[in-house]
Amino acid sequence: MKRCKQDISKLGERTKAVHAGEVPDPVTGASAPNLVMSTTFVADADTTFSVEGMGQDDPFVYTRWGNPTIRQLEEKLAVLEDAETAVAFASGMSAATTLMLHTLKAGDRAVMSDVTYAAVAEAANELFPGLGIDIIKVDTSDPDALAAAVTGGVKLVYIETPCNPLLRLTDIEAAAEIAHKAGARLAVDSTFATPVATKPLLLGADFVIHSLTKYIGGHGDALGGVLLGRAGDLVPLRKKTSIRLGGTISPFNAWLIMRGLATLPLRMKAHEENALKIARYLETNPRITQVIYPGLPSHPQHDLARRQMKNFSGMISFQTERGRETVRRLAEKLRIIHYAVSLGHHRSLIFYLDTEELLATSFKLTTGKQLDSLRAFAGDGIFRLSVGLEDADDLIADIEQALNEGG
Ligand SMILES: *Cc1c(COP(=O)(O)O)cnc(C)c1O
Repeated sequence: MKRCKQDISKLGERTKAVHAGEVPDPVTGASAPNLVMSTTFVADADTTFSVEGMGQDDPFVYTRWGNPTIRQLEEKLAVLEDAETAVAFASGMSAATTLMLHTLKAGDRAVMSDVTYAAVAEAANELFPGLGIDIIKVDTSDPDALAAAVTGGVKLVYIETPCNPLLRLTDIEAAAEIAHKAGARLAVDSTFATPVATKPLLLGADFVIHSLTKYIGGHGDALGGVLLGRAGDLVPLRKKTSIRLGGTISPFNAWLIMRGLATLPLRMKAHEENALKIARYLETNPRITQVIYPGLPSHPQHDLARRQMKNFSGMISFQTERGRETVRRLAEKLRIIHYAVSLGHHRSLIFYLDTEELLATSFKLTTGKQLDSLRAFAGDGIFRLSVGLEDADDLIADIEQALNEGG
């Protein structure tokens, strides 16, 4: 297939986002990527029926094994993340659980951030222990706590930075050093950062996970996930685990996400610009007791954010004195911002996460130190605001009228 006629790795991020992975159609010359919905491909007499015999560059056989539209998305993602290769999935959760099922067997031990995306935390609490896999939860933002937990015999260290929903960071370089010293691999969920902000593989991580549903797709209309890393890890992962678990992304979703991804660098610039304006406004609002945004000097890890993030992204969390009352007001009165879960869309979204509820359902933290760190970021509960691409002044006016309504 005819690729971009230049070595794409030498080009700028915006050029990569637009051109990487995309192939003009060899039959029609179509310039935009083709959407190939076919589940099956006409084979020749030598084609094997088991995926065991499949080579990396063999012709397409069946979409669960590989598909031209999905392949284009995987190539674009690999170029943007500076990864050797990528495997796309039906969702971020499918990427995360496939990585864990591929790298961990019964009797193995893993260390994971004590605060992660809720479904990841819940799988670590319930799904993996049931399979005989021991998962130790640690506040990975504290390198000493991480080093103490990662002893010999730990196979995988799994971190999320900035983490959902706290926006607490973990030092990727330090975590990679700790993991590798103990003979473990490091996986980083970089969904909140995106490759525009941080490239964990260049900081020593072995695997990167993204929910493509968020910033990378960027428009709230397609679920997807991806794993990125070395070909030596991911080629066997695709063959041995991903194809057998079957969490294949729909080619239609891959096509939508590829279209979103083309504008990621531009969108992240606008998300950051808007978020910084709104975070500064929130800090001046007397009803708001704490604002957490990595781009603000008041973020407890602002120095690490400046070192590790080239873009502070569009996620803000804030607290009010009576969160439970404020949530009713916001859900009813906001006119532009949607009161809804998810994040990273062009549309602004806000959702309230109650700390007690999170502790009871997802995080189940046990030590006083872990609880203190969680409370320092979350208080009794946070509003997680995903700042969209609307005009910042309109978003500020929307928050202002909703918070102040009824005195
Ligand atoms: C949303 C999210 C996930 C899960 O992704 P899905 O596409 O919803 O399965 C994982 N990690 C983070 C940080 C997320 O925000």
